Amino acid sequence: MTRGSLKDYQEKRDFRRTPEPAAGRGPGSQEPIFVIQKHAARRLHYDFRLEVDGVLKSWAIPKGPSTDPQDKRLAVPTEDHPLEYAGFEGVIPAGEYGGGTVLVWDTGTYRNLTKKKGQAIPMDQGLAHGHVKVWLEGRKLKGGYALTRFKTGKDESWLLIKTDDAEADPSRNPVADDPGSVLSGRTIEEVSR
Ligand code: MN
Repeated sequence: MTRGSLKDYQEKRDFRRTPEPAAGRGPGSQEPIFVIQKHAARRLHYDFRLEVDGVLKSWAIPKGPSTDPQDKRLAVPTEDHPLEYAGFEGVIPAGEYGGGTVLVWDTGTYRNLTKKKGQAIPMDQGLAHGHVKVWLEGRKLKGGYALTRFKTGKDESWLLIKTDDAEADPSRNPVADDPGSVLSGRTIEEVSR
């Protein structure tokens, strides 16, 4: 996909009204994208995905993201997804992997703020070391978020924590207050029909 080639596509459409994918990346933007997909599978969760080296690195977050720096949200790593998945909203048939309804809860671009010993490092290195920090420019979520790996026995889990910056807001509950799709405005129930 040529970056910036979707300018005409995006300008012709109002993604609050059409179910078509916005593809996340803004016109002419060189910045990587993120997406958070609300997934009503056997158990409701939020799939947090960051574009890194041409794929979407992915974590499943049972409680979804918080805007309160005091909250530590469990983030279980899942398989890389293709970039095109960022626009996916619809129903995965029952019995298929991840069967259930998916909507694009938030999307936008992000900046890598990851440092090691005071030096900026690329995302892939941060992920290998088990710590990244990103600045989200979404519609619902903005500001810094840290993802940090920890071990639970043999398994690996991560925590997603809001950075204490100007975009932090403990009084907000974004998951409950703003449940619908940023692409279509639909709720899970409406997408599943
Ligand atoms: Mn999922």
